[in-house]
Amino acid sequence: MTQPIGLSTPEVLSEARRRRTFAVISHPDAGKSTLTEALLLHARAITTAGATHGKAGRRGTVSDWMAMEQARGISVTSAAIQFEYRDAVINLVDTPGHADFSEDTFRVLSAVDAAVMLVDASKGLEVQTMKLFEVCRQRNLPVITVINKWDRPGAEALDLMDEIRRRTGLIPTPLTWPVGIAGDFRGVIERSSHEFVRFTRTAGGAKAAGFERVSADVAAADEGDAWQTATEESELLTEEDQDHDEARFLANETTPVLFAAAVLNFGVQHILDTLVDFAPAAEAREDASGGHRPVGSAFSGFVFKVQSGMNASHRDHVAFVRVCSGQFRRGMIVTHAASGRPFATKYAQHLFGREREVADEAWPGDIVGLVNASALRVGDSIFEGDPVEYPPLPMFAPEHFRVVRSADSSKHKQFRRGIDQLDHEGVIQVMRSDLRGDQSPVLGAVGPMQFEVVEERMTHDFGAAIRSEALPYQIARRTDRESALILGHDRQVEVLMRSDGTLLALFSTVWRLRNTVRDHPELLLEDLATGS
Ligand code: GDP
Repeated sequence: MTQPIGLSTPEVLSEARRRRTFAVISHPDAGKSTLTEALLLHARAITTAGATHGKAGRRGTVSDWMAMEQARGISVTSAAIQFEYRDAVINLVDTPGHADFSEDTFRVLSAVDAAVMLVDASKGLEVQTMKLFEVCRQRNLPVITVINKWDRPGAEALDLMDEIRRRTGLIPTPLTWPVGIAGDFRGVIERSSHEFVRFTRTAGGAKAAGFERVSADVAAADEGDAWQTATEESELLTEEDQDHDEARFLANETTPVLFAAAVLNFGVQHILDTLVDFAPAAEAREDASGGHRPVGSAFSGFVFKVQSGMNASHRDHVAFVRVCSGQFRRGMIVTHAASGRPFATKYAQHLFGREREVADEAWPGDIVGLVNASALRVGDSIFEGDPVEYPPLPMFAPEHFRVVRSADSSKHKQFRRGIDQLDHEGVIQVMRSDLRGDQSPVLGAVGPMQFEVVEERMTHDFGAAIRSEALPYQIARRTDRESALILGHDRQVEVLMRSDGTLLALFSTVWRLRNTVRDHPELLLEDLATGS
């Protein structure tokens, strides 16, 4: 095997050490877009925040970020945004913007090394946040908690800490503690220095919020009772062992907590500092055989997201790759692990801010977008030098099912192409059976919103409008051919073959599944990974 011509190990290691790759997990409206802009603002990537994230007509964060890219001239890959802060390079990987939960989200979280859990102070831990948190837990991702909208009336800070502990099982270890109740945000105690960081409001949050550091004595004199209360609460936290401890954080026992008002740029710098100081750098990833290819070795990475039609002028097929080891150089020839074939990366440049800042290289932790990558599927590994294959990304148990067919019978070809493409991109799971026939596949989704994406994409991208009908199933179990023969006699159960070759038995209710297991204990009915 030829050794790659990349940079030497020490240089790769030092670049990897600078990387912080994270995603924001939150419920819609908690302020993710606002925070994203505020983070960029603070990192000096842009000079004014605000205005681009109007909700009306928004198609999801991809287009938001594209709009931001155009408006701000910043480098965006549409799946990740990169900026420098202090001596670190921060990659913020976008989680899909829709309210619904989908498989996409799981995959994005496989590409990051930490998560920021953004919580609306008045709402606490909402449904979507908890679902995403569960994925972080499954993936052992360290989680930093940010309590947002502290400028508005909300819950008591101590109550929020209780809620975090109760619902996530993580011990909250606040790094800052608010002075003044929610809605009367005066600033925070920085618990490591015991200083008061007083926020000074700037009009509309259009400029970086000013803040001044004030000693505890001055704060006590200026803020009176609010300071007293905050100090007492902070001491209480220390007594209860709720101070930050790096080892416990990285072991997923604790979550550092920060208080912020993203819309006013309050607390944003603390978030950046926390990422740089405490979040893990890009480290060696476990591969499919349980080994760890060192970050300093030759280039390798895996595809965590595939997307089409991002460029209005041509139907690009873009594969987003998380770099796991080595140096990525635009134009390099890599090997596609699944097929063993060479893959040329000469089109990578289209994704890096288009006419600006052509990024010629990337390092462990970075996200690279490869254009015209129709050979690459979600979960695929690519590498240079010694072969490596990263674990396949889990396919989750679908909980919603619809049978679809082409609305126009003369469009069978487009229909087939579209469904195959969406399957390929991992937008939806596609299942078929002889009984239903090839023209009537069953689509399975983790969240019902995935069907809306399918309808829209089929109509607009593939010119094959669909008709679809909900099927009364809620549960899928993996089965085998022998069991399928027996299950075939049960009218209430349907067995279909997913495009990856897995046989799935679909049940309408848990009760129905239990009955089947009771009557036929010999059948193979295996759990699939679940999204809830
Ligand atoms: P997303 O759905 O999570 O991306 O949320 P957005 O960033 O679009 O924010 C939702 C709404 O909350 C918008 O109207 C924001 O202006 C508002 N918002 C975001 N952060 C704050 C904050 O810190 N304080 C207040 N008062 N409003 C905020």
